[in-house]
Amino acid sequence: MTGGVNGTIVERTCAISVDLDEIPNYGAIHGVQLCDVDEHAVYDRGLPRLEAWARQSDVPLTLFAVGSDLKRPAAAEGLSRMATAGHEIANHSFDHFYDLTRRSPSEMHEQVAKANEAIAQATGAPPVGFRAPGYVTTDALYEVLDEVGVRYSSSVFPCPWYYAPKAALIGLKALRGRPSRSLIDDPRVLSAPAEPYRIGKPYYRRGTGVLELPMAVTPWLRLPVIGTSLVAGGPAGAEWLVRRLIGRKFINLELHGIDVLDASDELGALGRHQPDLRIPASRKLQVLDRVVYTLREAGYSFRTLAEAAQRLGDDDVSP
Ligand SMILES: [Zn+2]
Repeated sequence: MTGGVNGTIVERTCAISVDLDEIPNYGAIHGVQLCDVDEHAVYDRGLPRLEAWARQSDVPLTLFAVGSDLKRPAAAEGLSRMATAGHEIANHSFDHFYDLTRRSPSEMHEQVAKANEAIAQATGAPPVGFRAPGYVTTDALYEVLDEVGVRYSSSVFPCPWYYAPKAALIGLKALRGRPSRSLIDDPRVLSAPAEPYRIGKPYYRRGTGVLELPMAVTPWLRLPVIGTSLVAGGPAGAEWLVRRLIGRKFINLELHGIDVLDASDELGALGRHQPDLRIPASRKLQVLDRVVYTLREAGYSFRTLAEAAQRLGDDDVSP
């Protein structure tokens, strides 16, 4: 808690979420066939690392799980263990189709509902939150979320620095005959609010629909403040980035499971396409330590996204 204006108390909240996209998804993004890699490295190597880090740091995580990964008992057990430890498990669709938003409403519905079922089966509780694969959303997808009863979405990433290179990369890969399965969003998503809002129509405008918790970008320049940029910046660069966010009521930091893996994790050729795998996992965890330390010093407490959504929803996310 920190003192606000006129003696009111404003709580500063930060949520750290981790998308558990498994290794074959990265092959799909880069348009390459991966052989001789540990296809389960995110669940089997990354998750225990995240579990130990979260326990030491006393940070509750929100884990976005892909439903079909939970067919593997070791993955379902890992997730169940995290839920028991107090972490939130949320929905990252059933198959992580990069073209989810181009499919029919009934298929989108099935992807969201089936992931809810798979997660409920693994953890004993149905999830309340959803994140779209590849940050790509549409009005039709939000309608589906509403139908399924999703309480919050955290799918909007209003970051031009992410958008422009992604568009360039997809074009380049297509030219080289290795089409990426990744999709780009409607560029108008860049005009979406950077703070939590209820979606309107179109979804990048404010309205009265599903509560959306966009991923963190800095004010003005809208630099991305996500695992990739934090890790690339090292502890000092990460601290500089998160300091740009201090003062906001809510900070939504998004990581990926691969952010706590490195070249020693049997990822073979993926290292050529994901240069951040050259950074040792221990160094990446030091970056996270610095982020948590910096934000705690500034009065932030760490919560799951569901807890943050509850509070923000109660406040009715007044702009
Ligand atoms: Zn994903």
